[in-house]
Amino acid sequence: MRIHADQLKTGSLRVAFAEPADRFAGLREITRSGECEFTSPIRTRLRATRIRELVEIEGVVQTAMRLTCGRCLSPFIYPLEVEFAITYTGDRPGNAENVDAEEREQDAGEAGLIYFQGEEIDLTEGIQEQVILSFPLRPLCRETCRGLCARCGVDLNQERCRCPAPPTESPFTALGRLKLD
Ligand SMILES: [Zn+2]
Ligand SMILES: [Zn+2]
Repeated sequence: MRIHADQLKTGSLRVAFAEPADRFAGLREITRSGECEFTSPIRTRLRATRIRELVEIEGVVQTAMRLTCGRCLSPFIYPLEVEFAITYTGDRPGNAENVDAEEREQDAGEAGLIYFQGEEIDLTEGIQEQVILSFPLRPLCRETCRGLCARCGVDLNQERCRCPAPPTESPFTALGRLKLD
């Protein structure tokens, strides 16, 4: 997933990529941990625009993954779609030879940019980061998932059990018990 600076000489460039998730080291790691399984490639559509040494990338990344519901423990497919904008910075023209790459990388990072050296931008890490940042913190098969019964373990989305309802305590009943002496 690379863009060559030559491609950006005339205005902006539109490109689309579709890469299997295991081409991304970080996503491969997550898959290996068993947390999720990608069921679609990582599809990216983007527009790249060069403004002097800056390259602005705007686009959308889409994929789908199998996750485990945090309430009922069922596997479900989670479609992920995220819009993103990343700005890369290269070296100023004519200035490339006397540049300390590490220093430039650090300066770029502090300014919220990603440094690229030479004429080619590798988008792999930038796009991987977008996918990782949009993982759901608490995956739910659906917002209204009822989960499992804490007593008998029945999936309450599928059936009802005869367990007594868990005692519900509102903050007000607790307040009522407070002794104010
Ligand atoms: Zn669920
Ligand atoms: Zn039950």
